[in-house]
Amino acid sequence: MGTGSSIFSRKAEVHQSTPSLPINGGDFSTIGNDNKVADTKEIQDIGGSRSPYSPDSGSLRAGDFPSNDNKVADTKEIEDLVDPRIQYSPIWQSWDINPFEHEKSKLIEYAWDIMESYGLLTKFGVERSKFTRFLNAVALRMNPNKFHNFVHCWSVFQTTYLLIRNGAEQYLTPFYMLGALIAAICHDLHHPGNDNNFEKKSRSAIYERYQNNDIAAGVLERYHFAETEKLLENPDTDILSALSPEQRSAMLTIIKEAILATDMSRHFRLMDELALHVGRTPHFEDTDEDRTFLVRILVHCADLSGQALRRDLAQKWGGFVLEEFIEQFDKESAANIEVSESFRNLKSSELARFECQRSFVDIFVSKQWELAAQCFPALQCQADQANKNLAFYTLEIAKIKEGAGVGHLAQVVDAPSERKEGSVPQLVGNGEESI
Ligand SMILES: [Zn+2]
Repeated sequence: MGTGSSIFSRKAEVHQSTPSLPINGGDFSTIGNDNKVADTKEIQDIGGSRSPYSPDSGSLRAGDFPSNDNKVADTKEIEDLVDPRIQYSPIWQSWDINPFEHEKSKLIEYAWDIMESYGLLTKFGVERSKFTRFLNAVALRMNPNKFHNFVHCWSVFQTTYLLIRNGAEQYLTPFYMLGALIAAICHDLHHPGNDNNFEKKSRSAIYERYQNNDIAAGVLERYHFAETEKLLENPDTDILSALSPEQRSAMLTIIKEAILATDMSRHFRLMDELALHVGRTPHFEDTDEDRTFLVRILVHCADLSGQALRRDLAQKWGGFVLEEFIEQFDKESAANIEVSESFRNLKSSELARFECQRSFVDIFVSKQWELAAQCFPALQCQADQANKNLAFYTLEIAKIKEGAGVGHLAQVVDAPSERKEGSVPQLVGNGEESI
């Protein structure tokens, strides 16, 4: 199921660097050593639903190709089938990519491709081996939390790229793109799997270290930036080493601003400021101030993108968030500290889980993506998808309350949002959970 949000999601998800199979058109006259011309049936079989192509392995299994005379095509023959006039989109250009289906090493490879699609690493003197070490170090520093893990960081990184590609690029320089993407992959570095409230209530080491900081941001966000600085201070993983001292200082400021902006307690102020930009022409001026603000918006928007994805991915991400909330409640109970009341019923009540999801989408995600789409019209389908997910959660809640049981009406996904203006959202939680 595609969200069809951009030109990228409408193309086949086939990696550019691997052999591709023809879907339509092209010169297929070289099948077989005897110059036998493939007939239409053979071509349809090759490019059809039983295609042996695997984007992950990048390999073609010759034996999977149908042949009237049992002739097995070799790799060279398969390469001859590729029509160079057909442009396939890499899977990392799709909103529909499911990162859980990809190995960490593959995600790191895609990250290089994403960076190099704008030539960022080459331009700023980052060797591939160092970039790979940097991302491996990020992955190693991520705890195996239910939600705040390396896959989440990678997803925010990839979504930040999609936001740049779908409109923000017109306002950014390569320097700011690099800052946005580094901030995205590092924005939750070494996340403990609980929110800022837990840090405060438990008087954690992170809280004690960062509570006196004058910056109006959460202790976790300050910690994530400090962890990012540590990685960049290590010569083995310092991907900014080719920058001048002035450039490095400016880059760290961009990264810091973007990471601190992921603190949910700053969300509404950020949205108020974004609304002002929506009303301007152009939406963002050619200034460092506006570019820095846009980077903050991009990373925060990407951080809240899970519920703007197709429903199965939205439910997967949402389920992981809820599991982490439930674990936090259990941690609070075990530590005999004040528990988060809004998390109390999440384990036992499906209604509470749906209400938590619906409130989050209604109050935060939907409005944010609507504002983003006003700046960048190519994002409208993601805003629409957030509203469809909202409609789904709303219907599930109604069904439970009516005692009809919990079902999954597939048609709801495609129904327009029936959210009523002026309805008062019932947020489960204080809305400041760290995402
Ligand atoms: Zn995050």
